[in-house]
Amino acid sequence: MKFIREPIVRLIAVTHFSKPTDLDEFNLWQTDTDNPAQQLIEAAGRTCYRSWHNPSGRTNQQYIANLMSQGHLSVIEHASASFYIRGISRACSHEIVRHRHFSYSQLSTRFVDESESDFILPDAIADDAQAMEAFTQAVTVAQEAYRKIYERLRDKFANVEDRTLRRKLARQAARMVLPHALETALVMTGNFRAWRHFIRMRATEHADVEIRKVAIAVLEQLQQVAPAVFGDFTIKTLDGGVTVAEPAFLYE
Ligand SMILES: Cc1cc2nc3c(=O)[nH]c(=O)nc-3n(C[C@H](O)[C@H](O)[C@H](O)COP(=O)(O)OP(=O)(O)OC[C@H]3O[C@@H](n4cnc5c(N)ncnc54)[C@H](O)[C@@H]3O)c2cc1C
Repeated sequence: MKFIREPIVRLIAVTHFSKPTDLDEFNLWQTDTDNPAQQLIEAAGRTCYRSWHNPSGRTNQQYIANLMSQGHLSVIEHASASFYIRGISRACSHEIVRHRHFSYSQLSTRFVDESESDFILPDAIADDAQAMEAFTQAVTVAQEAYRKIYERLRDKFANVEDRTLRRKLARQAARMVLPHALETALVMTGNFRAWRHFIRMRATEHADVEIRKVAIAVLEQLQQVAPAVFGDFTIKTLDGGVTVAEPAFLYE
């Protein structure tokens, strides 16, 4: 068992755009970006206004900024991103999955053996010797109890023919003693509008430390791949060391 202090958040997929070559409107349209997600958003916006010839001469960045400043946010729903996230607790993942406009695939505690799993150590506990001692003791006892319960139940369900089912029956009961701090992993996919909302809700000083770190890490990577959509967020560190992000465009 080891204690984890920082989440791992990696962008693993982002929208690809295929420009049709046989349609007059797409042949008329020229954009100054080679960013596929932003090309898709501009194409969606130009579909609304049949403005393929770019009458106002805007760059892609200016075009998207104009849409967002008017709250015309359905266009950014066409582009999406997937993140692989691990090194977070089950407490954090429970907060994450409250966001309903995403798709999730999460490590199964019924299928996967948790007898050697790691735990998330909050900074506040790590910084306090007595809290640290209590935390270490609690997770050690919990994991030992998990192992003991699993072994007993595995034997008890020995007559269940299906090996996977037999293990699941034991693990789904044994997992009940594991704490919120248990490490989990998930893939989270959503469109850019959903990501903006997630960042806005979770990259604030009111959010829990862990989910805030996830939200900031997501934002930093989305700012790289879609600066026209996420570039209005300012990341700053408040007095007291809390890092937060604030958007310039306030439409949801
Ligand atoms: C600081 C903080 C503290 C929190 N504390 C608690 C707590 O103590 N207990 C608790 O249970 N939760 C708590 N939450 C979770 C919170 O209530 C939300 O469930 C979570 O942040 C998901 O965000 P969302 O509701 O905006 O919805 P999302 O699922 O992210 O949806 C995005 C938006 O879509 C719209 N939408 C989605 N579904 C519906 C719907 N069914 N009807 C109408 N509009 C919809 C809304 O405009 C919503 O804002 C907390 C969140 C934060 C940030």
